[in-house]
Amino acid sequence: MSTQTSQPEAKVGALEPEKAIAEILISSARIQERVRELGAAISRDYQGKDLLMIGVLRGVIFFMADLLRAITIPVAMDFMAISHYGPSQRMRGVVRLIKDLEEPIEGRHVLFVEDIVDTGFTLGYILKILRTRQPASLEVCVLLDKPRLRLIDLDIKYKGFEIPDRFVVGYGLDYRQRYRNLPFIGVLDPQVYAAS
Ligand code: IMP
Repeated sequence: MSTQTSQPEAKVGALEPEKAIAEILISSARIQERVRELGAAISRDYQGKDLLMIGVLRGVIFFMADLLRAITIPVAMDFMAISHYGPSQRMRGVVRLIKDLEEPIEGRHVLFVEDIVDTGFTLGYILKILRTRQPASLEVCVLLDKPRLRLIDLDIKYKGFEIPDRFVVGYGLDYRQRYRNLPFIGVLDPQVYAAS
């Protein structure tokens, strides 16, 4: 999901994707099929409403772009960016808003789009900010849900896939800013951690 994490950038010699991926968890075709289903459900549910979809840079851009194109009703989009304070604190949800929305959301039907939810701290933090701005409604659409490590109780209306507690990359998700461009969701090989 989120964007500006405080992980250092990968060294220039980061492993090639074919060596870095231990297993393809969700193929590109399955992602696209599920995104079409989500887009159809959202289009039905928000028919006649002023829908604004909000995402957090950078991880969400692939999902957001495909989802938007699967939606058949008028829709606007906006983005935020956050920063995690440090790898050790990442799981504790210590995040800071570093780019705010361009548009006011008061009175609008907001659908918050996220790439992955793990403990739920990051999403919980962002939803708290958005709620104070009094949207007409606020729902969540998440591509990947890792429910095993959930620490915050969250109501997720639209969900792509539930996945096990493994570190995944691709389709926007990164390890040290690499592997976002893979068209599938893959499990990162432990040798990648050792190499960096
Ligand atoms: P949280 O634990 O739900 O707050 O998630 C923290 C953040 O860690 C997410 O927004 C993602 O940016 C990142 N994250 C969690 N699991 C993964 C993963 O498997 N791959 C890539 N990033 C992840």
